[in-house]
Amino acid sequence: MPKLKAACHCSKVRLLIEKPDWVLDCNCTICRRYGALWTYPQPGDVELVAGSDATDSYLWGDRELAFHRCRECGCVTHTTPVMAPSHIFAVNARLIPTLDPAEVTVRQRDNGHTGWFWTRSSHQWEPGGHPEMEPPGPDDWR
Ligand SMILES: [Zn+2]
Repeated sequence: MPKLKAACHCSKVRLLIEKPDWVLDCNCTICRRYGALWTYPQPGDVELVAGSDATDSYLWGDRELAFHRCRECGCVTHTTPVMAPSHIFAVNARLIPTLDPAEVTVRQRDNGHTGWFWTRSSHQWEPGGHPEMEPPGPDDWR
C-alpha cells in the first residue's frame, strides 16, 4: 500500500504516512484544545516530505514533546521529542484527507482525569498516564 498524504491546510507541511488502524483522542489540557486525533507511526512508516522549517512549536508540562503547528495556516501537524527532534512521534490524523474515520478505531485516553471526550467510541476510555493536576486556581483556565 502506498503511504497516505497528510498536509496542513496551506500544504506547506506535508507528510507521507502508512494508514493507521487506530487514532488516539487524548483529553489532556492541550490535546482537547487542539482537537487532534493522534496516530503514532513506527519509524519508517512516516516521512516529513515538506515543511520541516515551516512550523513553530509549543512546549508545556515536562517539556519533553514539541507540538508543531504550521506557521502559515496554524494547523497542528505533529509532535517530536525534544531530545530527538528528527523523530516524528505522533501525527494528527485529521490531516489525512483520504482516511475514512469509519475504518479506524478511536481510542480514548483519560489524561485529563475527567472521563469527558468529544468523540464517541465503542470502547471504554483508558486511564491516562499524565499526573493529576492541582485543582485550578482563579487564574488557571486549563
Ligand atoms: Zn499550513
